Amino acid sequence: MRYLPAKPSIYGETLDSLGAQLAAHGHPAFRARQITEWLYKKRVRSWEDMTNLSRALRAWLAATFELEPTKFVLTKQSEDVTDKLLLELGDQSLIETVIIRAPQLGVGQENSRKTICISTQVGCAMGCKFCASGLDGLKRNLSAGEIVHQLIQVCRQEDARTPRAHAELVSFDNLVVMGMGEPLHNYDAILRALTILNADWGLGFGARRITLSTSGLVPKIRQLADEPLGLRLAISLHGATDEVREQIMPVNKKYPLAELIPAIREFSEKRGRMVTLEFILIEDINDSLDQAGKLRDIAHDLHAHVNLIPYNTVEGLPWKRPSLTRQEKFAQVLDRGGVSVTLRREKGHAIDAACGQLRLKTEKARAATAAN
Ligand code: SAH
Ligand code: SF4
Repeated sequence: MRYLPAKPSIYGETLDSLGAQLAAHGHPAFRARQITEWLYKKRVRSWEDMTNLSRALRAWLAATFELEPTKFVLTKQSEDVTDKLLLELGDQSLIETVIIRAPQLGVGQENSRKTICISTQVGCAMGCKFCASGLDGLKRNLSAGEIVHQLIQVCRQEDARTPRAHAELVSFDNLVVMGMGEPLHNYDAILRALTILNADWGLGFGARRITLSTSGLVPKIRQLADEPLGLRLAISLHGATDEVREQIMPVNKKYPLAELIPAIREFSEKRGRMVTLEFILIEDINDSLDQAGKLRDIAHDLHAHVNLIPYNTVEGLPWKRPSLTRQEKFAQVLDRGGVSVTLRREKGHAIDAACGQLRLKTEKARAATAAN
């Protein structure tokens, strides 16, 4: 389904596209830089706040662009390590943006490392059997502006916590494209959004600190390998054989391992950097030592890092995480095979960290209220 807002969001414009539109309406192109300063450095909430622009220009901007494509609904906090922002879009759809704080020894909360996780679609079409985001299929793609604005919301949230002197800096360390949706299924919008976030006139956020996670859309992985933007790549593998992967990830029928693995190799060789293989551990589905051995061989061959993630239970789904001992045995097979592996102690389990769960709960609650 397509959603056409009355006005496009200004956060989807690049400096060039904005400059061109300004010029076409008789405004000097240098105004584009002033506008992006207000958007990305000062993070203003109203056109009126752009005080060095003429009244006529502000009126034109207001008539042409949407300034706030997402609306802040609520924050949910978990054990001081995760903040989830629930945001509402112009068509009342809900998305989530997550702030994960990794406390550093000896420093206060303000100096903890922060990773931001953004969404790229409302729902997801890929239908992975274990995932809350895909339960109701895909509702729609996010626009580039809606993707970028998630980071503006995060910056505002953090600006309120940090001293004013730091407010113009971006206050997070890593960005992961691992929220709701399959980013490579919304390729143009996500690339545009990340280009804007990376640009010096945008948030100026380094591409090497951005990791994009995909369920394995092979042609798009190859396309991404040729982009000028040097992103990091993570692959949701979750099965080390077609038989196991196919059971939980329908995308494997279209792009089986024999196609996916060479595409990962190509990406890694072209970019000269390590790819991460994500592997959720689900009891009795993919947690056997045989799977561990096969995963070790794949990772070894690809010189890839493996991130093991104990499954987060999703209401209404039958899957469970294996016991800690079983998780550790699985990790040992990789470690002893010389593979770089981390077993994630997941953050935010208590507040439904698995992608899409907070949104689903809020939607259910809304439906219940509407029905009353
Ligand atoms: N669509 C992309 C990115 C979003 S999902 C992808 O699939 O890679 C981000 C990660 O969360 C993926 O690795 C996904 O498999 C994982 N995930 C989904 N549901 C989960 C759950 N219930 N517990 C743990 N990880 C989950
Ligand atoms: Fe979509 Fe990723 Fe969830 Fe699969 S795991 S349904 S690709 S969001």
